[in-house]
Amino acid sequence: MSSSSTDDSSDVESWIEWFLLQEGHEFFCEVDRNYIEDNFNLYGLRNIIPNFRACLNIILDVADSHNIDHESIDQQAMDLYGLIHARYILTKRGMERMLRKYRIGEFGVCPVMECAGQPVLPVGLRDQLRYHEVMVYCARCNSVFYPAQKQQNYREENLDGAYFGSTFAHLLLMQYPALRPSSRRPTPGYVPRVFGFRVRSQNAPPPRSVDALEADYKKQKLSNDAGAVAPSTSGSQVAAPHAASRIKLGTA
Ligand SMILES: [Zn+2]
Repeated sequence: MSSSSTDDSSDVESWIEWFLLQEGHEFFCEVDRNYIEDNFNLYGLRNIIPNFRACLNIILDVADSHNIDHESIDQQAMDLYGLIHARYILTKRGMERMLRKYRIGEFGVCPVMECAGQPVLPVGLRDQLRYHEVMVYCARCNSVFYPAQKQQNYREENLDGAYFGSTFAHLLLMQYPALRPSSRRPTPGYVPRVFGFRVRSQNAPPPRSVDALEADYKKQKLSNDAGAVAPSTSGSQVAAPHAASRIKLGTA
């Protein structure tokens, strides 16, 4: 088996153990051998993976009499393991394995500051191979992101999203509701602001219309620099958000 980053660890016993140790494969958990050996769990994969039997033999370390020497056999074996993995992590045992990885932050954390280091879960945008690489899902802001490794250009290519599937992350959160954050947790020291103004949740004055804010701005602008009025943006609705942001500049 070739790989760009083989460790050549002599004490690695099986293909699966070797596979899991490869750089960039940290998101995978170990699929039980007896799960892979159960034909029921492999239903339909024969039609998706070329050289299915040879790939299965590789994964299970079964000596192959046909001695397949196919350039893309490693990729096909990886695809097969990945698709089996996507099914396995929907089982109770697979879910528990992924949960352990989640709890130690193996999948990384949400990059959004407001999410305060919320751990994320791997997610596929589709269940089909070659549709999209794996993403990570933050339950706090309900968003998906590229994994941190990708953001740091750690690897040129990421794993296929189909190796994790579109269901797993959300099923895990349903199975373990305690994992689901009840609401956004404000980052300590972080003050939510709108157009530069601090947002107050309680005792806040009634919200004012953008038109009223713009009128305030114009009044203030007129009194500040007598004469030099801003180009006429005469109160059209299109200019409204623009006007609100200008209020920040005017009062700063
Ligand atoms: Zn988030």
